[in-house]
Amino acid sequence: MQSFSYRANPAQVVFGQGTIAQIESQLDTLGVSHPLFLSTPPQADQVRAIAATLGARSVGVFEDARVHTPIEVSERALKHLKSKKADGIVSIGGGSTIGLGKALAFRTNLPHLVVPTTFAGSEMTPILGETADGTKRTLSSDKVLPSSVIYDVDLVLTLPPRMAGLSGMNAIAHAVEALYAKDANPIISMLAHEAIGTLAKALPKIIEMPDDTQARADALYGAWLCGTCLGSVGMALHHKLCHTIGGMFDLPHAETHCVILPHALTYNAPAIPDVIADLRATLGTDDPARTLFELGKTVDAPDGLKDVGMPEGKIDETVEKAMSNAYWNPRALEKEPLTKLIERAWSGAPPS
Ligand code: NAD
Repeated sequence: MQSFSYRANPAQVVFGQGTIAQIESQLDTLGVSHPLFLSTPPQADQVRAIAATLGARSVGVFEDARVHTPIEVSERALKHLKSKKADGIVSIGGGSTIGLGKALAFRTNLPHLVVPTTFAGSEMTPILGETADGTKRTLSSDKVLPSSVIYDVDLVLTLPPRMAGLSGMNAIAHAVEALYAKDANPIISMLAHEAIGTLAKALPKIIEMPDDTQARADALYGAWLCGTCLGSVGMALHHKLCHTIGGMFDLPHAETHCVILPHALTYNAPAIPDVIADLRATLGTDDPARTLFELGKTVDAPDGLKDVGMPEGKIDETVEKAMSNAYWNPRALEKEPLTKLIERAWSGAPPS
């Protein structure tokens, strides 16, 4: 018998196609009269068009969300929000836009409606990572958990297939690490397996047929569950490595997750035989890490960290930094095997 404790994060979720039409009724439910919309510069036209459907009720779009939530941008957005007297926040975009929405919700306590357009999963977590002076710090607070989420398949149809694939791999990493989290529990593990199986089938279909709406819907559903995993239990080696290496060398988020995941799973495998056995069943393979590596190839992941900007000769420094912050992992952090892990991830070798 497994003893466990489980805490569900409250979330109002609408899922489907064309669900963006429910934005006004969701804002009514949240008691928001005059929302400020948020977007990144490339998605600004799309978000302006959605905001326009609300007429004078919208106070406009702040369209300068940036990756890794720089505090300088959040402070500018906060000033803008106050000057417009907005009483709610609507984030339409990926993790970068949602991060800005969370930073504003944290500072104002205003209701936050999220419409995710990638598979990164931030909308389901009470986690906010903010960057100041080149350092990214993470906090967890119920104030950061979005009030309401609208998943609309139409809005992920525009994700270029490779970006969809990489973002989906980023999502799978949340579910894989949830299976061996310190506070793992059967409810979250059930969601994790459902998510991993669904995404592993959907992502190759998106690459093969970018217009396959059902595959996009499946991936969005899987991503929702993966985000729930990330928001419910603690992460371990994989996420810590991505955070450390990504921060040290300013590496692209989804690509870094995609490259490191099979190697982190291989590192932990000796300590988690039951998880590996369950993953074999979920993925229909003898070797889950190798299958995740191949899935990365299918979505055209970079060969290795060397291809996304990690400089040669920095592996020892990276290992030292990864070992300097103590955190829980199913297998103890050992210098030599960790060095091998990063060497393989850097060069693009398969997991071994
Ligand atoms: P992103 O939000 O940075 O988006 C990447 C690019 O894709 C942007 O230019 C964006 O405008 C564009 N884009 C997004 N959706 C699109 C669509 N449907 N069609 C066309 N273009 C689209 O990328 P991301 O991977 O979603 O988010 C990464 C950030 O989120 C990182 O900073 C990461 O740390 C953070 N994150 C946070 C959490 C959390 O729980 N706090 C979870 C996951 C990711």
